[in-house]
Amino acid sequence: MGEKIDYVFKVVLIGDSAVGKSQILARFARNEFSLDSKATIGVEFQTRTLIIDRKNVKAQIWDTAGQERYRAVTTAYYRGAFGALLIYDITKRQTFDHIPRWLEELRSHADKNIVIMLVGNKSDLDDKRAVSVEDAKEFAQKEGLFFLETSAMEATNVEPSFMTVLTEIFNIVSKKSL
Ligand code: GDP
Repeated sequence: MGEKIDYVFKVVLIGDSAVGKSQILARFARNEFSLDSKATIGVEFQTRTLIIDRKNVKAQIWDTAGQERYRAVTTAYYRGAFGALLIYDITKRQTFDHIPRWLEELRSHADKNIVIMLVGNKSDLDDKRAVSVEDAKEFAQKEGLFFLETSAMEATNVEPSFMTVLTEIFNIVSKKSL
């Protein structure tokens, strides 16, 4: 039956193609993973309702669903976002080198208080690592971002990535409404 929803938080996923955005979302929203996921075109979001501090929080997570390949992520995608996961693939240096561009795009479109987590995905492929934890940590610290490495495949740190962002948003929003 209809549970009362206290808050709806929009969180966007951004980063280059094939870093694992849709699989991170599948893992968080449905606890699923697929090795042959195909990019679907058009914006999509999925929701999951969680309890934070005894409130029902509906997380509405948006996936670019392939738009980033054409650098066509629209202003509407970022509108109203309270949080973002800025994702690269630890085995593809280029996807990390593009992070400053994504961050700039995010900051120019989203609210200035947006909560951002830098996410190095595919940590299960450590033998193919092309981005060190130190480099990522240093960048995150410089830019004031949270940082975690994840594996959507092995379900490592996906839950903490979202929960850190959602809890931080909750703290900001609930303080404001006091
Ligand atoms: P997107 O384009 O950023 O949405 O990337 P996808 O979620 O479609 O993932 C791209 C490819 O990487 C797919 O073949 C996924 O199965 C694979 N993938 C995603 N996450 C992981 C992970 O954590 N580990 C490994 N080994 N592969 C992953």
